[in-house]
Amino acid sequence: MSGDIRFTVISLSYVAAALLFIFGLRGLSTPRTARAGNRLAALGMFVALAATLLDRSIISYWEIAIGTAIGAAVGIYSARRVQMTAMPQMVAIFNGMGGATAALVSIAEFFRDYGHAIDPGVGAAVSGALGIAIGAISFTGSIVAFGKLQEILPGRPLLFPGRHVVNGLLALAIVALGLWIARGDIGPRPVWTLFAVALLLGILVVLPIGGGDMPVMISVLNSLTGVAAALTGIVLRNQVLVVAGMLVGASGTLLTLLMSRAMNRKLSNVMFGGFGAESGGAASTAVARPVRQTSAEDAAVAMAFANRVIVIPGYGLAVAEAQRQVKELAGELEKRGVDVKYAIHPVAGRMPGHMNVLLAEADISYDQLLDMEQINPEFDHTDIALVVGANDVVNPAARTDRTSPLFGMPILDADHAKNVIVLKRSMKAGFAGVDNELFYARNTQMLFGDAKQSLVQLTEAVKAV
Ligand code: NAP
Repeated sequence: MSGDIRFTVISLSYVAAALLFIFGLRGLSTPRTARAGNRLAALGMFVALAATLLDRSIISYWEIAIGTAIGAAVGIYSARRVQMTAMPQMVAIFNGMGGATAALVSIAEFFRDYGHAIDPGVGAAVSGALGIAIGAISFTGSIVAFGKLQEILPGRPLLFPGRHVVNGLLALAIVALGLWIARGDIGPRPVWTLFAVALLLGILVVLPIGGGDMPVMISVLNSLTGVAAALTGIVLRNQVLVVAGMLVGASGTLLTLLMSRAMNRKLSNVMFGGFGAESGGAASTAVARPVRQTSAEDAAVAMAFANRVIVIPGYGLAVAEAQRQVKELAGELEKRGVDVKYAIHPVAGRMPGHMNVLLAEADISYDQLLDMEQINPEFDHTDIALVVGANDVVNPAARTDRTSPLFGMPILDADHAKNVIVLKRSMKAGFAGVDNELFYARNTQMLFGDAKQSLVQLTEAVKAV
């Protein structure tokens, strides 16, 4: 293939890949089109990789093939084995690898220019320095996030005195080193020092963040990795890397903002850590108060004779892996003519989209999954709200109690239903660590036990009604 044709094929392939990424992302915006969107984006990645392999400056196809085989084997193995509840840490580790790659490629580019006594120019030097700094922060930050979520490191915020000052000084050192490199000194000393300082900053920024806030932090780190990749794309003069990196950066930023808003947390509050250090996250401070308990048989009768039931899945459903059992119960109710829908809160569970993915895994129809804004008006004329392992997302204190950490967070109006049945194991608090008035309400009944077992008992009892 002549040089011109090769260049044209690569450029056109990159444009096609960029378009596939954009349409893929568009597809990810609703559960119905998400799988197709994912496939489009994967196809885009394939096209981009294939076009890159046509590049003349590739030195060894063997090394690339071996690296690809090892990476693909690890990726396929871990993606198949990972539990849905462990998805945030999987995202963290993959993201960390992206950050490390961006940083290492920028370092390699500097050293190549240095070896040939080439001045990369101010633009490429600044992009490279930023790529190293952001990629390295994202790498170690993601590894710490992984450690916390995997419980290798303590999940609680690890605070050390003067951490803001230390982190501020490290950030200043990064700026100074970046300026040094931008002035044209691309030798090993400033480049490795920048890398080391950024690695340290990544660790120190993420250590003080509590395990519960980690999904937001992972989203921040994810967008940082995107930016680092885009900067590396500038250094390599690779357009598709710039486009893909910016798409990751922009979507990660939007996701971060959406998550913070839906959790009623200021982003600065998450980023500077320490949340939950005193409350310990999930410990309830409530004094024991009486609640109304029910049995699977009584709850089944109530549901079997209801007209409308809304299921509210929460983190506990994911822990219990009860998505199939909830579908079976809904199926039995539907056979009896009950209208069953699912209310999906944007931050139900421990990561965005957690509930949609879990319920989709059990082949629950997307038409039955309704977002908070769509479903909330329906609670007023619903017979039973069935809360399955959810807590904070149905806590009415979010509307009324100014002192509650949940105050201002939009919630599902389960308390507006005629009756509420709550499946959970105990009276323990949820992620925010606060008591829930809904559990003590006159129209609420508690069915204590593991969500999966309770759902199986309810299904059997409905069959027997
Ligand atoms: P939640 O408030 O954490 O409550 C989950 C409840 O499930 C707990 O009260 C627990 O009570 C129960 N549970 C746990 N295991 C169970 C099992 N095996 N069977 C039955 N019940 C079980 O969950 P949520 O209502 O889904 O709210 C999510 C929280 O996470 C929100 O505060 C949200 O802000 C936060 N968060 C969300 C995201 C996101 O992006 N989705 C990210 C970070 C944080 P028992 O122990 O008594 O059973």
